[in-house]
Amino acid sequence: MSKKAFVDLGHGGNDPGACGNGLRESDIVLAVGLRVKYHLLRHDVEVMLSRESDKTVSLAERTNMANRFGADALASIHCNAAIETAYGIETYCYTFKYRVLADKVHGKLVENKSLYYANRGVKEADFHMLRESNMDAALVEMAFISNARDAQLLRNMQEEYAIAIAQGILDYLGIAWINENESKPENNELYRVRKSWGDAASQKGAYSIKENAIAECKNHNGYNVYDSKGNCVYSNGGSQPSQPTPTKEKIDLFSRVAVKGRGSKYYDWVKNLTDYTGDKKNPCCLFMAYPSKGEVRFRVSPISEGRYYSEVQNYYSSKGIYDEAGLPNVPFDKIQMRFDLPGYKIRYRAMCNGCWLDWVENGNSYMEGHNGYAGLGDGTPITAIECEIVTR
Ligand SMILES: [Zn+2]
Repeated sequence: MSKKAFVDLGHGGNDPGACGNGLRESDIVLAVGLRVKYHLLRHDVEVMLSRESDKTVSLAERTNMANRFGADALASIHCNAAIETAYGIETYCYTFKYRVLADKVHGKLVENKSLYYANRGVKEADFHMLRESNMDAALVEMAFISNARDAQLLRNMQEEYAIAIAQGILDYLGIAWINENESKPENNELYRVRKSWGDAASQKGAYSIKENAIAECKNHNGYNVYDSKGNCVYSNGGSQPSQPTPTKEKIDLFSRVAVKGRGSKYYDWVKNLTDYTGDKKNPCCLFMAYPSKGEVRFRVSPISEGRYYSEVQNYYSSKGIYDEAGLPNVPFDKIQMRFDLPGYKIRYRAMCNGCWLDWVENGNSYMEGHNGYAGLGDGTPITAIECEIVTR
């Protein structure tokens, strides 16, 4: 049975948490928490978050959710605040009797020396999240939002914080960390050296390590190496596999916007590039998108705010529940999108002043591609958007 983790994203909604240096605690922990979820899901951990958007959730609701979920571990993510000169990272457990998870999470965080300027250690605290949860719980204070240098870490190192927190939880759950670009080893995978997949009698050996099978295959002209599914993974002149190389399935992307003056009334959904969404005249204020498979995440930067609103993602598109980025009647001048399935990327572009801007391409992070966002970002409203998901 898969393990369960509950990740509590501190504050949200009516309660922005601590604010300082242009940052809000609730935004930072949302960004980090969503990435913790992503990394835990990659390891087949069942994950529940206390919130997945900027909304109000009481402390009692949070621990009730975790207890009902039956989580094996609970991590609560926060930013610290105090006088301007205080800085560093610290992690709390209820009492040291229950410190194993806190030690693991804190240990992974401080392993990455770029995540802190002072290691303030693991401490005890009588916090609600730690006291009222039935499972081992750790509360992380990543850095001080009230300190200028720490705030830079909170702004720039969100992915690194998320990886370390996920690694600590996984360590506690007894699950080995797998890097994002490494494929998970198949259980009981065997590599067979044969003339052809169908010619079992020709088999020269079966190996659990691919390199060993390839080394054996090199001794036998006219042989191939096959994985457990019969895919040819190495050829030394054996008969070529008859099965066609699988083509990646097409993933449809649906998007729509609401423009200034129409309030929250959306234009119709647009599929892929069959049409653009928007009317090329009025500024876009709200945006929604969902793919036929996987999850698309996006965020917008409203004109004159100079920062992005919290990232949102499509929810349960099959059930018709979505989330939106933006505010009614507040135009945005920048939009970013990313898409979570390996082998695919999202392409999108924006229209400003009647002209389409360059395409932007992102995988599962915002940093790839031209500019990394669509829009001019100089206060010029976006009046139309096109987007699609393509294979890499
Ligand atoms: Zn907090």
